[in-house]
Amino acid sequence: MRLRAGVASDRGLVRQNNEDSYLVRRGLYAVCDGMGGARAGEVASEMACRGLLALDTAQATADELREAIIKVDRAIVDRSLGEEGLLGMGTTLTAALAGEGSLTLAHVGDSRAYLLREGDLIQLTDDHSWVGEMVRRGELTPAQAAVHPHRSVITRVLGTGGELEPDMIEVAVEAGDRVMICSDGLTGMVSDQELAGILQQDADPQTVAELLVQAALSGGGEDNVTVVVVDVMPSSPAPGSPLGGGETDEGGETAGGGETPGEGDEAGDEAGDEGETPGDGATPQDGGDEILLGPSDRGIVSAATAGRGGRAGAGMRGRLGGRISPFLSPSIRRPVGGATAAGQAGGTVSSLEATTQVEPAEAGSRRWTRRRWAILAVTIVVVVAVLVGGFAVYNSTVYYIGTFTGTVALFQGLPASILGIDLSSVIEMGAVARDSLAPHLQARVDAHDLISKEEGRLFLRTLSAQ
Ligand code: MG
Repeated sequence: MRLRAGVASDRGLVRQNNEDSYLVRRGLYAVCDGMGGARAGEVASEMACRGLLALDTAQATADELREAIIKVDRAIVDRSLGEEGLLGMGTTLTAALAGEGSLTLAHVGDSRAYLLREGDLIQLTDDHSWVGEMVRRGELTPAQAAVHPHRSVITRVLGTGGELEPDMIEVAVEAGDRVMICSDGLTGMVSDQELAGILQQDADPQTVAELLVQAALSGGGEDNVTVVVVDVMPSSPAPGSPLGGGETDEGGETAGGGETPGEGDEAGDEAGDEGETPGDGATPQDGGDEILLGPSDRGIVSAATAGRGGRAGAGMRGRLGGRISPFLSPSIRRPVGGATAAGQAGGTVSSLEATTQVEPAEAGSRRWTRRRWAILAVTIVVVVAVLVGGFAVYNSTVYYIGTFTGTVALFQGLPASILGIDLSSVIEMGAVARDSLAPHLQARVDAHDLISKEEGRLFLRTLSAQ
């Protein structure tokens, strides 16, 4: 199976640093979204990606992938407890390991994997989040979950201690399929419809990854966003193809990140591949297991670091209109047998007994965002209240002479109405019918000139005396 990948990452428009990490190497792709105070989140997410480096991707099994994740989970816990400033750090992890005609997904947290097949976008993973569980229980709709104040509460994550059980999902893939792994900085900012539209574009995976990151930024960029796109290519290159190194299958490798999208995170392509540059502008290394681990601007190890290009796809948005298939058919998605995942569709159960953790950095960012909205809302309310109160005070100080049921009267307030509500009311009735007045006095009454209360009373008395 030949795979071709692209990767892009950006810290977004709100966060101060990028706590996402990614790994792209031949046949193994991962996105990790770290959480924790200070820079602990990026330590955790990078540890998780690095924890997969020991796998021999040419022959690694699903069990070995799962064991590597459990091992790195313990390492994160140990480091979290032993190193100042790292207490409570954690990370999501969504990884795809290429096999023969299939991908094995390992998944913990709320980063996601999707499959685009013949125009249908299929979410391969279930979010391990509080709202995700509620949606699966039918207690929230996806639309409600998307805006729920507790949407950042993650129910399964690496680094919290206790027994970690990744979801292990095997997905049969075929040429023409496009798989995407992303952090929630993408899915929180871009609708599934828009994701489908961009993923359907007939462009190389690197371009698509950059377009997706750009869409997240255009959507607000409230979180770090990292996207890995993997294309399943037709079986083997034509004879004599210059695909490098005699390599064939399971995708090129690249790991990397890029704080800026478009920084050429071209992840490995088919072996040796057509001279493409891997992520973060890294140059593929000859013949070996090219590894890109990123984002590169954090100084993360990567195969090469030469920069390439600038921000790509600026201002470009994917066309809309992709079809969404919210549920996978069992034929293409089945849980991989594992210690506890057996029998559970998608292996999603067991998560509620796992620790529940609020993602501190992300929650902090969202709290900050909410706080700003709250401040804005309070400001608007105060301004409106001041304006309304000020107007009411002013309105109570003005008077005019008018007509009420045919009789001249003194009104308090402006001679007008808003939304059908009169701003004035009669405070003193006169004793003279308006129609009995001389024309010039009728004109005076009808003019509704603003006057003082005393002037009005004097006018009424004058009319009566006539
Ligand atoms: Mg995130």
